[in-house]
Amino acid sequence: MDYQNILDSIHDEMSYRDVKGKVASYIPELAKVDRKKFGMHVYCGDQQHFHFGDSKEKFSIQSISKVFTLAMGMRLMGEDLWDRVDVEPSGDPFNSLTQLEYESGIPRNPFINAGALVISDILVDQLKDPKQELLDFVREITGDDDIHYDETVAASEKSTGYRNIALVNYIKALGNIKCDVEPIVDFYFYQCSLAMSCEQLSKAFMIFANRGRILENDKKILKPKTVKRINALMQTCGFYDEAGEFSFQVGLPGKSGVGGGIVAIHPENYSVAVWSPILNDNGNSELGMKALERFTTLTGVSVF
Ligand code: GLN
Repeated sequence: MDYQNILDSIHDEMSYRDVKGKVASYIPELAKVDRKKFGMHVYCGDQQHFHFGDSKEKFSIQSISKVFTLAMGMRLMGEDLWDRVDVEPSGDPFNSLTQLEYESGIPRNPFINAGALVISDILVDQLKDPKQELLDFVREITGDDDIHYDETVAASEKSTGYRNIALVNYIKALGNIKCDVEPIVDFYFYQCSLAMSCEQLSKAFMIFANRGRILENDKKILKPKTVKRINALMQTCGFYDEAGEFSFQVGLPGKSGVGGGIVAIHPENYSVAVWSPILNDNGNSELGMKALERFTTLTGVSVF
């Protein structure tokens, strides 16, 4: 497969000028990002990689971090985790509170904010230094120590994070949060502030294309069963109320973030990350989704 040629034609065909959405602004620091940014990176199982544009520039990965924390939560709790979080698509926006009331504080899935906050509670409860351990985990699977939190973004989200704080309080009132609210949201705002490039993200996500093995050294870090579950959740819940549309257009398991990043994988084959900060109404990168639709159309390969 001539991935470079395919990426070059996507780069030639598409531009930020073609999309009308807005850069996220409810986290004030994210509103400062240049809407012209556009990059894409593909990593393959033989360590070859291909890219265009701003694929080596770091951005705020936001909700993409929920895949890393879920992997850590599953390593700690195994199947018991599913007593605390369900595995159904929500069909609601990522930050919605509504389902929690009639579903007794059990979030629909680990990728909406409610579910990710329950996972944060588990990590804060069970790990000595959750921020450091998350950083170590992401650096290990990427084979790259140059990955850091962006403390300005974390502080910016904290300053306007009323919905997430409300979510943790509400879930705690319904009995599904153990720790205090403050350390949970603090950890959550930090995990969302992780700054990574498309190159780093596509490399890290090779563990999900590679049955839990790290690309660089073949070390097995997740069980194949864990990877199967995470990929299934990315397929059904990775794009909130647009999970059906992403499956329909792109046909790969993936995860988005309001920083404008999307990562998707093809099991046994490749991992692809794209970044354009212009979001559609569902909080997913508009150009990123279009670029991935072109990618699976031009390669003729998706999971379906
Ligand atoms: N930190 C963001 C929030 O909680 C993450 C949301 C996202 O990327 N979809 O609102």
